[in-house]
Amino acid sequence: MTLKVKKLKWLFISHERNKILKEHHDSPNAAHYGSDGIYQRIVKRYFCIGIREFTTNYVKNCLDCSRLKASNQKPSGFLQTPVQAQRFETIAIDLFGPLSESKNKKKWIFIVEDVATRWVKLFALTNATARECATFLMEETFLRFGLHRRVISDNGTQFVSAVMQHLCYVLKIHQ
Ligand SMILES: [Zn+2]
Repeated sequence: MTLKVKKLKWLFISHERNKILKEHHDSPNAAHYGSDGIYQRIVKRYFCIGIREFTTNYVKNCLDCSRLKASNQKPSGFLQTPVQAQRFETIAIDLFGPLSESKNKKKWIFIVEDVATRWVKLFALTNATARECATFLMEETFLRFGLHRRVISDNGTQFVSAVMQHLCYVLKIHQ
């Protein structure tokens, strides 16, 4: 089975997220747009793992936005602070490609990121099948760090479920 993924123009690494979010949210032209709008603009130009969640959190934590909201709303109890996620509790997986083929016929990048610590591992794949992704996921994260509570992906739930289905098959788990 071949997985359908979006074609992306640019890859930017984790520490550049803040800069790009700043451009799209804080700049005078951006005027503090909401997270959905910014997300749509960003994914048209960039690829970055877990960017949807990052965008939502960025906007949620924007001081100017919360000041504006506070001045328009009645006081509403305690401030909700997000619970810090545990290491390897939630991992994000994504596929990036197809790129021009390498000498050993690899043209996809499979990306695994731990959401809490930002630990990232990239794997070069030949065909980007659910089976290939599942194998890397099992050997490189499940067997080393234990099972994760959540697996998320910007490529959609279909991508995650295809990979997880294959993983269950390999592990002989009946879903
Ligand atoms: Zn804002």
